[in-house]
Amino acid sequence: MTQTAEKHAFQAEVQEVLNLMTHSLYSNKEIFLRELISNASDACDKLRFEALQDDALLADDPELRIEIEADPDKRLLIIRDNGIGMTRDEVVENIGTIARSGTRRYLEQLKANGGESADGDSAEQLIGQFGVGFYASFIVADNVTLLTRHAGGDAGEGVRWESAGDGTYQVDDIELPRRGTEVILHLKEGEDEFLQAWTLRSLVNRYSDHIGFPIRLKETTPSEEEGGDDTVEWNTVNQASALWTLPKSDIADEDYTGFYQHLTHDNDDPLAWAHNHVEGAQNYTSLLYVPGKAPLDFMMQRDERHGLKLYVKRVFIMDAAEQLLPHYLRFVRGVVDSRDLPLNVSRELLQENEQVRKIRAAVVKRSLDLVTRLANTEPDKFATFWDQFGTVLKEGIVEDMGNQEKVAKLLRFTSTKDVSAGDVVSLDDYVGRMKADQDTIWYITADNLKAAQHSPHLELFRKEGIEVLLMHERIDEWMMGYFPEFDGKPLKSVAKGDVNLGEDSETEEEDAETPEVLKRMKDVLGDAVADVRASKRLTDSAACLVLGEHDMALHLKRMLEQAGQELPDSKPTLEVNLGHPLLERLSEAEGESFEDWTRIVHDQAVLAEGGQLEDPAAFVARINTLLVG
Ligand code: ADP
Ligand code: MG
Repeated sequence: MTQTAEKHAFQAEVQEVLNLMTHSLYSNKEIFLRELISNASDACDKLRFEALQDDALLADDPELRIEIEADPDKRLLIIRDNGIGMTRDEVVENIGTIARSGTRRYLEQLKANGGESADGDSAEQLIGQFGVGFYASFIVADNVTLLTRHAGGDAGEGVRWESAGDGTYQVDDIELPRRGTEVILHLKEGEDEFLQAWTLRSLVNRYSDHIGFPIRLKETTPSEEEGGDDTVEWNTVNQASALWTLPKSDIADEDYTGFYQHLTHDNDDPLAWAHNHVEGAQNYTSLLYVPGKAPLDFMMQRDERHGLKLYVKRVFIMDAAEQLLPHYLRFVRGVVDSRDLPLNVSRELLQENEQVRKIRAAVVKRSLDLVTRLANTEPDKFATFWDQFGTVLKEGIVEDMGNQEKVAKLLRFTSTKDVSAGDVVSLDDYVGRMKADQDTIWYITADNLKAAQHSPHLELFRKEGIEVLLMHERIDEWMMGYFPEFDGKPLKSVAKGDVNLGEDSETEEEDAETPEVLKRMKDVLGDAVADVRASKRLTDSAACLVLGEHDMALHLKRMLEQAGQELPDSKPTLEVNLGHPLLERLSEAEGESFEDWTRIVHDQAVLAEGGQLEDPAAFVARINTLLVG
């Protein structure tokens, strides 16, 4: 029983992607060639890998290659490979749907950002990252035919797929004499440049020079004589040597950036790279890049395509992000090629392998060194890096305790010193200008920069001229829980525990008894606070909430509670500024009026910290009574 012609509708997402692409990518239309060559190269990689288990797959046609052929008369451009090919089911699966999870969400996000019309840049990033590279064909073609036969299949197992990019495609079974895939583009009016050999040659040079398989271009020289035969030549137009295998001295910067673009589908240059050949007890090569921008889906979820590609003796084995780099370094892109690992290495084996562990440690070190070099020598590029990947790098404080000091040196924070200029400081900067008698690195965490900047907890520090780091990213509070000291100095939150700024602390420490008014306030507030005490940290505000040394910041606690998490019930302490006029008035009040004053002071402290009042209407009523009265 044979299936023959069958018409399918594209999955809705595919049609969306198609529309998006043809509209917003037109200014960069030549990338379709890069995408098709990249697919052909992937297909050759896959077959070479499969053939490690079964030589027969390659034996009938052992030289893996990619061919490009133009037929100007018929306006056809053909990209052909003798790689792994596809079965009929695979064609429908891979070319008719977008299987990758998250795509729909991603598309929605892209559109919400105005991606559909204006933002060609985002649409461009979409290509390749979500498995939509093939559809780039429709930027320049009004009809695309794909012929394919999977490796190991026989002539009768060929498949023909065709679409005009109009919402449907057709699949047929056909006879195909050879394995692999052939993509035939019928070019739109006005796209004739892609029929010219020199255009194709220069595009291959730009984007695909260091693909590890030969790319052959069919070049035809017309006969000199009238009616004579044209000369046809198949010329290899790329270097066809995997870039990382070459000696560093033979590689120009353009080669490095070109290879990066091939690897990442990013049209911009990387910020930095490191290329190392290691020989001796270990034998491997690593080529690592730090990109200048995060892929759009970067923060969304773990994606196996981020990170490093693992090769063994130049054979592509797998994308091995987690095995070769910890999660917080997932922005690093590149290649590791080992000469020692077995070719049939599996993911499980990678996890336990001693050599892999060593390679990983070395790659982590090189990645951190690479970023450190940027920080020390190229501040502008480092600023770009920090902007794109700073939040991710912070995860390293928790994830990679062994390298905590190294990661810590790369962190940047807003601080009370430079906040107006929008500058950020490093911990080394901070330590370098600590006051002579200061032994602690002070910070505050908050929901956002404004809340941090205007927190009453900073008052004493301002008065004393002590710098405080203003942390306002979600991850900060979590990170700081695992980050007790830097350069031998403790890191402490100004909002937690006692603030002890040296000098006069001892005299006040064993202060007299708790003033009566504080006890009365505590009676009014009951369980809402752990305690009410006189504050050493306030100079201008009347009151603030203070947490225990090991309590979770209130803004984080709120967030987790909203997300439905059960948290240990810890109460903040209300600290009041006994010198504040409000407190003077309060201590004179009696009965109900004392209660009102107390609740107002407490509610103000809650608001100043960014919290929500349990009974806002009561707060308003009390304030109004006072204002009018
Ligand atoms: P991606 O390459 O990012 O997965 P594409 O849209 O470029 O996304 O390709 C979709 C899928 O179609 C590929 O993952 C692959 O399975 C299949 N495919 C595309 N081109 C080829 C080819 N030349 N040979 C074999 N399979 C291919
Ligand atoms: Mg692709």
